[in-house]
Amino acid sequence: MHHKTLVELGAGLRQGEYSSEELTRACLDRAAVLDPQLNSIITLTGEQALQAARDADARIRSGEAGPLTGIPYAHKDIFCTKGVRTSCGSRMLDNFIAPYDATVTRQLNAAGAVMIGKTNMDEFAMGSSNETSFYGPVSNPWDSETVPGGSSGGSAAAVAARLVPVSTGTDTGGSIRQPAALCGITGLKPTYGRVSRYGMIAFASSLDQAGPFARTAEDAALMLGAMAGFDPRDSTSVERTVEDYTGGLGDSLEGLKIGLPNEFFGEGLDSTVAAAVEAALDEYRKLGAIITEISLPNSQLAVPTYYVVAPAECSSNLSRFDGVRFGYRATDPADLEDLYKRSRGEGFGAEVKRRIMIGTYALSAGYYDAYYLKAQQARRLIREDFIRAFEQVDVIMGPTSPSVAFRLGEKSNNPVTMYLSDIYTIAVNLAGLPGMSIPAGFATDMPVGLQLIGNYFEEARLLNAAHRYQQVTDWHERIPPGYE
Ligand code: GLN
Repeated sequence: MHHKTLVELGAGLRQGEYSSEELTRACLDRAAVLDPQLNSIITLTGEQALQAARDADARIRSGEAGPLTGIPYAHKDIFCTKGVRTSCGSRMLDNFIAPYDATVTRQLNAAGAVMIGKTNMDEFAMGSSNETSFYGPVSNPWDSETVPGGSSGGSAAAVAARLVPVSTGTDTGGSIRQPAALCGITGLKPTYGRVSRYGMIAFASSLDQAGPFARTAEDAALMLGAMAGFDPRDSTSVERTVEDYTGGLGDSLEGLKIGLPNEFFGEGLDSTVAAAVEAALDEYRKLGAIITEISLPNSQLAVPTYYVVAPAECSSNLSRFDGVRFGYRATDPADLEDLYKRSRGEGFGAEVKRRIMIGTYALSAGYYDAYYLKAQQARRLIREDFIRAFEQVDVIMGPTSPSVAFRLGEKSNNPVTMYLSDIYTIAVNLAGLPGMSIPAGFATDMPVGLQLIGNYFEEARLLNAAHRYQQVTDWHERIPPGYE
């Protein structure tokens, strides 16, 4: 059963080939056997999952099932889940049982999806390798010595290892697309504002966006349909009807204008990754797309801009974790100041502290104009590059990540090399655009991701471009050895 896609599993459930309870039990059993070596899941929700599955079965029997009803999924541990620990990968929230559901959680519940567990992630979603998690690193199912990417590393590894057909992630600078690429699966970051951020623990509020992981674009389309929507509880959520993302799947790509930013193919891109991406672009040519070179001249500003904006916002968002209002509390403090200092000192890991310090510095009175204001100006230039590009082309394509999965520990002592793993994804968040990564071949036996970037709210177009490619290739069907 673990080889089936969400679409296939949904059909089997509705035809009564198996129940959601059986399916959920199979996922829980498989996770119990295989996850100890992967470490992709922080909390398994066993009994609660089985109860949700039985409720889904009742709904299926009564003929009220939707496409997600009874489908097991894994949920990034950044989404609040009522009554279930929501750790955000941090010691700070190790004992936090969320008192309410995030909107995404609520919507997936309403669709009848069955959450089997909460997935491992970089602490507060800060990282590109899942190595900053308080719960330890996650292994890439394709090679246990390598990282799955981050910050949604657990969610990506769980889908790649066929523990679940689909999962959720969040993407502030690449955290859905980069792990999807490194694990050989499909991941989608929607347009900023498409999916509610309510109840999703905030990292950098102007960049954070939730989206799905799946093996196919079709499954991702169904997940997005359930996750998206206007939410009055998120002031940045956009009031716009949710399309039927599966409706246009299969439309011809004849005449689709694809732009290749020359900045995405220069120095720093691994030649074996470039070769796989070129081969994928040839498939698009065969599908009738017209490929042209474009320029995003301010691309080189994306990483430095992000590393001012994101830490600035995180330093503000994470101030609530002080051991008094929220989070881990140090024992036997000498006084109030000691309580604050030690609670934050012991509760946060090194990367989170680094970001809080950078952000606090960038926002301080004497440096605000030099750093934060400058970064906001650069952000506008980056956004305008994309707006101009979309006057000429329909979709922008390129590599998702400059290399395949790197070795555990390889970059953890060098923040700058780590930060560069998101060089092709970060600008998309700064501009607020939708982006996807799909499996597009292998380099040195490890998966390569092709990135697709669309204009605002053009998720359906991206999903169709991904789907058409998946109809003529089988990279997305490859299974990591040992997980057959
Ligand atoms: N890797 C980037 C960072 O460390 C992006 C993380 C994310 O998208 N949540 O901030």
